[in-house]
Amino acid sequence: MSPERLLTEISWMSQCLKVSLFAVDEAHCISQCGHDFRPEYTQLGILHDEFPEIPIIALTATADKITKADIVERLNLHDPQIFVGSFDRPNLSLDVRRGYSAKDKLRIIMNVIERHRHESGVIYCLVRKTTEKLAQKLRANGISVGVYHAGMSMDERNKVQEEFVNDRIDVIVVTIAFGMGIDKSNVRFVIHYNLPKSIESFYQEIGRGGRDGLPTETLLFYNIQDLITLRSFVEESGQKEINLEKLKRMQEYAEAQVCRRRILLNYFGETTEHNCGNCDVCISPPMLFEGTELVQKALSAIMRTKEQIGFTLTAEILRGTYSNEIVAKGYQSVKTFGAGRDVPFRDWQDYLLQMLQMGFIEIAYGEDRHLKVTELGKDVLYGRKRVELAVIERKDLRVKGDKKRQKNENTGLFAANDKKRKIKRYSSVCVNCASK
Ligand code: ZN
Repeated sequence: MSPERLLTEISWMSQCLKVSLFAVDEAHCISQCGHDFRPEYTQLGILHDEFPEIPIIALTATADKITKADIVERLNLHDPQIFVGSFDRPNLSLDVRRGYSAKDKLRIIMNVIERHRHESGVIYCLVRKTTEKLAQKLRANGISVGVYHAGMSMDERNKVQEEFVNDRIDVIVVTIAFGMGIDKSNVRFVIHYNLPKSIESFYQEIGRGGRDGLPTETLLFYNIQDLITLRSFVEESGQKEINLEKLKRMQEYAEAQVCRRRILLNYFGETTEHNCGNCDVCISPPMLFEGTELVQKALSAIMRTKEQIGFTLTAEILRGTYSNEIVAKGYQSVKTFGAGRDVPFRDWQDYLLQMLQMGFIEIAYGEDRHLKVTELGKDVLYGRKRVELAVIERKDLRVKGDKKRQKNENTGLFAANDKKRKIKRYSSVCVNCASK
């Protein structure tokens, strides 16, 4: 039963039922620091008060240190035995793709589905609208697909869930509303169409794949828009500080240039000495190039518009795009207009994101999300600091017959001018001790 029902019926229960054990599932919901916090769960301490002799077991697949301590406290457990299994799920491959357009995402998702023809897969989206749009596109491509989100009736949800569990549909496109209590062993891929709000959510969601221990693909798409949307959700949430911190950790995971599994395990308090060999960073370590000049161009564009522009306008100014907004605001006469036209638009978005990560710019959420140059950014702009940027690799975006582009991609280079940039290959480094 749900905690809500338990709370209303507990007095009756204690008089009429002989209970031998209480099991609290999804126990991370008890903690304010747990990612699915539900206030009713916090009142489950009543179990111990009403049934002091009855054993209680609390179970969760995703709890960090504070959450574990909270579960013990809220349930009034005294000196409990705690069993922690390994968080490691080596059969799940980990892959993050950054800055992809909807069209590119669809193409890559279709590739994943092709690799797993007639096998089961889950695709998580941030909002309901996206689940429906994406399912429509997949259906148009001949895929057997269902949709699941909280806007549907209980009957509709149960029906689609049952069809998926019994292999009558292959792919299910869902929001986070999906999955609690679902145990299906043969899910062969889990895709995150958008960035999840926390590492716990992410880990729990990918954990719905490969429960039979067989190789399973997980793929996370991440772009600036996700971050902006999630940040605005956080701003409106009741626990702004905690949620902001969680989002930051999720973002760091997506941005990481070290073995992703080590980051996940480290997050849940489990350390490992070895890189996993089954994540995109291990398979293809990132390359860096001297990016000072690029960063200076972007910072200069922001400064010359008196810090009144966001990501899109900055990229448009750099690219020299005569968009309606640019012309209306007269930004075509800014000195840096077109100064970065050799770099594709979405690469500029990626570099701007890297600049945000490195702290050269920040987003003024209270000012229409305009970009502001930080003190550190000014050091770069005025030549006091040099910067290395990560080379953007989009291995799946090869265009047939475009040999020049392929050649550039094979060497990890993308924009035409990259040839001139000095490339440095970094090996993966341990997140904890900074040794190899
Ligand atoms: Zn790895």
